[in-house]
Amino acid sequence: MTGERAKRFPLGLADLERKPRGATERVREPLAAREGAARRVDTFASHAADKMGAPNVPLASALALTSERVRERMVERLRGNGIADARVLDAIAAVPRHMFVDPGLAAQAYEDAALPIGHQQTISKPSVVARMLELAAAGRPLDRVLEIGTGCGYQAAVLARIARDVYSIERIKPLYERAKLNLRPLRVPNIRLHYGDGRVGLPAVAPFDAIVIAAAGLDVPQALLEQLAVGGRLVAPVGSQSGQAQVLTLVERVAPSQWRESRLDRVFFVPLKSGVI
Ligand code: SAH
Repeated sequence: MTGERAKRFPLGLADLERKPRGATERVREPLAAREGAARRVDTFASHAADKMGAPNVPLASALALTSERVRERMVERLRGNGIADARVLDAIAAVPRHMFVDPGLAAQAYEDAALPIGHQQTISKPSVVARMLELAAAGRPLDRVLEIGTGCGYQAAVLARIARDVYSIERIKPLYERAKLNLRPLRVPNIRLHYGDGRVGLPAVAPFDAIVIAAAGLDVPQALLEQLAVGGRLVAPVGSQSGQAQVLTLVERVAPSQWRESRLDRVFFVPLKSGVI
């Protein structure tokens, strides 16, 4: 009896592979709430077991390891789709996207899809995050970066691995709070979250080497153009509120009073709105 208990707790990866689905499901439930990936854990666990070849590895590290492997595959796909900046790819490989979505959606966290985060907002698609950050960075070292539209905090966490200081503004109070909670366990020291209307930016902190707007306006707010450093780059979806014709737009500040605009990809973002709620 004691021997059997000892064998069952903690549950080894080898055991996980053999257990009927229902049994493992119950054991992993409390972890799934935070570590997510519930639907695919069996596949994850068997890969992890191959690699480590050791029984009795705690389930939490198995999930961490396996979500890392799934992220690596996602990064391979991004690379295949033309994302070349190694810093961006490494940052995406490092940030556990499943920790930014509802546990019920965690199994979809590494698909290239926007997912709902409540309040009619979405976490951006990984390929769009990668594209925007690659355009914003353009291979330069980034010192100070501003993000408009924190949402769940995912893109800010990715940015924090590329830039020295990240400032991010969210206009929906519960999402601002949610992002704080999501980021806490990741212990990211260089993100400052602000609750407010991102259309006015953060004049007290400007200028920014890069500004990334994660919601689509009809134009790029003038205040944000002014807060871009000379030589800085702003990336934003620009288009109709209905979302019919949004275009990912790059604005470079080439001189103190000269901005150059390039219209790039067709995209679909939630609207950039005024005021706070
Ligand atoms: N950066 C997020 C994407 C969030 S979706 C990610 O990592 O996936 C876009 C967010 O922009 C929403 O949360 C929305 O509330 C916010 N938003 C829209 N208009 C805004 C504004 N004027 N100021 C700040 N945030 C805004």
